Amino acid sequence: MYCRKCGAELKESAKFCDSCGTEVVKVKQRSYQEKYDDNKKKAKSEQQSKKDIERMEKHKDEKNPYINAALVAVFISFVLAVFPWNFVAEGVGTSLPMRIAVIAFALLSDYHSTKAKQVNNLIYSKYGFRIRENTVKLVSVFAVVMTIIGSFALFMYGA
Ligand SMILES: [Zn+2]
Repeated sequence: MYCRKCGAELKESAKFCDSCGTEVVKVKQRSYQEKYDDNKKKAKSEQQSKKDIERMEKHKDEKNPYINAALVAVFISFVLAVFPWNFVAEGVGTSLPMRIAVIAFALLSDYHSTKAKQVNNLIYSKYGFRIRENTVKLVSVFAVVMTIIGSFALFMYGA
């Protein structure tokens, strides 16, 4: 045992340092085994995250084609819904085929975003990550909104 202030050697039972008078504070020394276990744990978790990164790197070419399909479908639905059709011809925008087209593309997007989620869940269970997770969330919400608007328009104007 040594004094933490002056470094002088201390007697086993000393409460104060003989040379400088500093109070002796006994600090529990971590055993070699404890340090070894800690380091091992640390190394293991570092290795784990490195493995995760490697896995992502290795599978970065993993594709989820449903995401783009859902995006395209919801975009078409949206454009059909907001396009100023009256410049083309009176009543085209509110015509039955147009309203059906809007809702059809919205439903198509719904379907593809659900598929995209399923594919992502599969990729997650295999490789531990999801492809463009936020885009999938966004497009599925957008698709639901377009489906609601589309159904509303379809039944509001009647056939
Ligand atoms: Zn001392």
